[in-house]
Amino acid sequence: MALTPQQLQELRKRILDRRRQLAIELRGDAERSREEPYGTLAGATHDSGDESVADLLADLDQAELSRDLAELRDLEVARMRMEGGTYGICTDCGTQIGYERLRVNLGAVRCVACQTRYEKTHAGPGTRAL
Ligand SMILES: [Zn+2]
Repeated sequence: MALTPQQLQELRKRILDRRRQLAIELRGDAERSREEPYGTLAGATHDSGDESVADLLADLDQAELSRDLAELRDLEVARMRMEGGTYGICTDCGTQIGYERLRVNLGAVRCVACQTRYEKTHAGPGTRAL
């Protein structure tokens, strides 16, 4: 069942809101990393235990940053697909992705069945071992 114009409108609004929010978060992250460069965090004490905590924090920051960036990229793709009229169409099988799925996963490009199959066959760089 195709999305109604109202549903598309709602999803477009959500995408734009989320993009704006992510951009603000990413800008904040960039400013924080300037204010607290890794060196000062690690250099604050000379205990090697603290250094590994600083390492850990830096890694976590990176992980969060790349998650945000990946989401922003997904939303950008979603926005372009919306402009092109292909938003909400599964890229693998061409069926309509349900509105409910899109609402919770704005950047979804596959229907649930294809996504499940994709995740089984592709353990991409986004997959974490944790
Ligand atoms: Zn599909």
